[in-house]
Amino acid sequence: MKIKNIVEEDFTNYKQPVMYIGTAYCNGKCCTEANLPISVCQNDGWRRSVPIDMADEKIIERYLSNDITKAICFSGLEPFEQFNEMLTFIKKLRTEYHCNDMVIIYTGYYKDEILQQINMLKEFCNIVIKYGRFIPNQKKHFDNVLGIYLASDNQYAEVLE
Ligand code: SF4
Repeated sequence: MKIKNIVEEDFTNYKQPVMYIGTAYCNGKCCTEANLPISVCQNDGWRRSVPIDMADEKIIERYLSNDITKAICFSGLEPFEQFNEMLTFIKKLRTEYHCNDMVIIYTGYYKDEILQQINMLKEFCNIVIKYGRFIPNQKKHFDNVLGIYLASDNQYAEVLE
């Protein structure tokens, strides 16, 4: 799938160590809706770099060969702009590699904007989605599902059931 970056061991996005996969695209919805320049987006630096096309198998095998990481995290830019690629990746992880580790997806969309995609992800166990736009200058709050602080009041995570 097309990505912008991989962090082999990330300790900031979940209560357990994760492999962080930075996805390739985002239309900048958080900033445009707030009438702010897209440069305010915390992932804006990635927007300008060229995507890397990396085989899902290579990413999965790198993840499985690392004893430290316990989950995979898709995050900024916007994973749901590459929904089919992400779905294919998760299908391979679960069926070809028999790995049921937690997959965490950080999206800037609200739940009611991506209901169809959520229903497709419900086919799989152990999927967490963090919803909601980034709104600058709000007080951070602790999210019990992720075990970390989120930046904006409207953001929260849930395990799909
Ligand atoms: S969804 Fe993420 S990458 Fe897109 S504008 Fe919002 S914070 Fe930036």
